[in-house]
Amino acid sequence: MSAGFVVPDPSRCVQCGICSYNCPIGIDVRAHAWLGRPVKHGECLTCGECVARCPRGVLRFELPETGREIGA
Ligand code: SF4
Ligand code: SF4
Repeated sequence: MSAGFVVPDPSRCVQCGICSYNCPIGIDVRAHAWLGRPVKHGECLTCGECVARCPRGVLRFELPETGREIGA
């Protein structure tokens, strides 16, 4: 488990969907990557599966201190 939330770099995403496929609670991470939007779901387990599985290095964790928007 990690603190923070998942942030995509949309310029690197190839929309393969591996991230969404591997999310244990079914968050559509690919859609977030497409739009360049952080995954700020209250349900996100911050398990890191999407980050670990992305073959393009699109996803990373960002700590809430840098965004001040977690829980919004
Ligand atoms: S696994 Fe990575 S490259 Fe594939 S859709 Fe998800 S963010 Fe994009
Ligand atoms: S960190 Fe885990 S729960 Fe959150 S979006 Fe990625 S795979 Fe899903």
